[in-house]
Amino acid sequence: MKEQTKILHSIPVDGLTGAISTPIYQTSTFVQSAPGLHKGFDYARSNNPTRKALEDLIATLEQGHAGFAFASGLAAIDAVVKLLQAGDEILAVDDIYGGAYRLFTLVYQKFGVTVRYVDTGDPRKVEAAISRKTKLIWLETPTNPTLKISDIRAIAEIAKAAGALLCVDNTFLSPAAQKPLTLGADIVVHSGTKYLGGHSDLVAGLVVCKNDELSGRIKFIQNASGAVLGPFDSWLLIRGIETLPLRIAQHSRNAQKIAEYLSQHELVRQVHYPGLSSHRNHGIAGEQQSWYGGVVSFDLYNDDTELATRIVQRTQLFKLAESLGGVKSLLCLPSAMTHKSIPAELRRSSGVSDSLIRLSVGIEDADDLILDLEQAIQKAASGSLKLKPAFTA
Ligand code: PLP
Repeated sequence: MKEQTKILHSIPVDGLTGAISTPIYQTSTFVQSAPGLHKGFDYARSNNPTRKALEDLIATLEQGHAGFAFASGLAAIDAVVKLLQAGDEILAVDDIYGGAYRLFTLVYQKFGVTVRYVDTGDPRKVEAAISRKTKLIWLETPTNPTLKISDIRAIAEIAKAAGALLCVDNTFLSPAAQKPLTLGADIVVHSGTKYLGGHSDLVAGLVVCKNDELSGRIKFIQNASGAVLGPFDSWLLIRGIETLPLRIAQHSRNAQKIAEYLSQHELVRQVHYPGLSSHRNHGIAGEQQSWYGGVVSFDLYNDDTELATRIVQRTQLFKLAESLGGVKSLLCLPSAMTHKSIPAELRRSSGVSDSLIRLSVGIEDADDLILDLEQAIQKAASGSLKLKPAFTA
């Protein structure tokens, strides 16, 4: 069965009423016929039928053993870090999402879980960086915001040999474009807020584990820590996922056109998009992904942050906002917004220049989006000769 059919038909019809849309079980508790005797649900933090339908759906899509829904992507990441104990180390991708950096560095270091960052675009660097203490390797691929690609299969083998778990944050692609568990990862996390939800109308997180043992441990942490997703947002997320493959295809087609347009632009120094043949790991992306995704980022000549700041304020269709993955296009300046919590030195050394602009390309018509970018760049650049690469390169 093809993915789109599988998604729509793995969401169960309600057994009680025949409702084709999963009912929202807005309840905190479930009546028992005798102490401990119930229909599989006793208290809504532990389990809820609407949340369960979502958790089963994401497990099916990622081809995992079980899925778990959390109140946000960061709550999902937090649950995975809680698999570790004091003295353990995380080896993480250097160009990491700012919120994950903040959690690893500012929350967990004080509990004795340390973290080191490495350029995971080259598996040899991962192998060289592993230590006795490394218990978790953390990848985002593509990364946020410079779209670096890591070879999941190669790094899964390295993790296995070192006795470490491999977790892949699959937020930027979704299972409609990449399935890390099938490539050897142990755990997948998502900010469901992004492509899975798809409409910029909810905050959610998901974890999917490859086997029974890890699923049992995450289930325990989910219930013990309690950052679960509520029934209404679980329903909304199921509804978003119903159209996921259609949306990912359109996001990716649009992003490819925009990346090609930007690559030709005289004011643009570099475009980051795995669908471009100039991308460092274009070949690996082509092997492990079925789409290149909807996020494109680009730098300006001379790292001109003032020009970048003017551009992001002059688009009309691309709205200036944090987040990504919705049907409507967004853009942001990561150094001043999403990645502000990362120290400037680490940010720059991992390739996030101050002038880097990140586009979350929506599903509007690509030509309209290109016109919008062109008018914004023209307006932002007008009158400032120093911005022209011919004068500054
Ligand atoms: N992972 C990635 C790659 C993200 O971009 C984000 C948020 O932007 C998160 C995780 C955190 O997700 P949430 O905002 O749902 O907590």
